[in-house]
Amino acid sequence: MFPYLFLGSLALFCPACSSNDNADAPSPGKLYQKGEYIYRIHNETLFNIPAAQTQSQELYPWEEKHIGEHSKITKEFFRCKGGNLNPMRTTQEKGELVRCFDCGGAEKHSLPLRDNKEFIYPILLELVNYIQTKTQKKVVITSGHRCPEHNVYVDPSPSNRYSKHMLGAEVSFYVQGMEHRPEEIVKYIQEYYKITPKYQGRKECLEFARYEKEDVNVSIPPWYNKEIFIKLYKPKEGRNFDNRHPYPYLSIQVRFDYDLQEKVVYSWDKANHNYHRH
Ligand SMILES: [Zn+2]
Repeated sequence: MFPYLFLGSLALFCPACSSNDNADAPSPGKLYQKGEYIYRIHNETLFNIPAAQTQSQELYPWEEKHIGEHSKITKEFFRCKGGNLNPMRTTQEKGELVRCFDCGGAEKHSLPLRDNKEFIYPILLELVNYIQTKTQKKVVITSGHRCPEHNVYVDPSPSNRYSKHMLGAEVSFYVQGMEHRPEEIVKYIQEYYKITPKYQGRKECLEFARYEKEDVNVSIPPWYNKEIFIKLYKPKEGRNFDNRHPYPYLSIQVRFDYDLQEKVVYSWDKANHNYHRH
């Protein structure tokens, strides 16, 4: 059989090959144009279409550095997890029903600022990355920075109104694959202080005490040194919109800022006026 290509209804029109010897009266606009078969010789090969090359996708800035198989945690992981697609929530305040709307999310506002740059307390980044390195498991940050709107939306209770999440001085997280062993993570946090040169000789950081007072929302006494305060939430404690998962989790708050040599305390100004809105 004589092989040929026939382009059927997509017949190729080539002005150079056209002639006006067409017996049929050409319709206006098709004058000098004529469909033709395209033939090829039996052994001729077709143009080989090169196989598609797969290219790895360009990395997002926060994916560039990896610890083992996990991304190094940067301040990007701490961006407010609010979003205006989240449903309206209602809460009782002084006997009245109050409606809460979530913020527009990280696209609408920045992280807290220091010296006009987005800022998360470095000790929080150092600790979560240390945990990833030691465990080779992923630290899942469920709540980093919360803008004041998202903070109320997450948990409208009065005790949450002074949350250090609004200052970039608190993080809530669990470790994938170690969800039910959070006490081991507390040991890694304490170990970080013991092995890190800048803390050598700083007894107030090397030794952790337990906070035994009852004015906290956890049943396990928190651990603290001069710089941080660690809370361990059991599966039924500390559930809020950012922590809707069923696992126990840890939160680390910064108590003391070694760079500025001052206590880290909530202030209305720091929480409400210290970030850009887009
Ligand atoms: Zn927000």
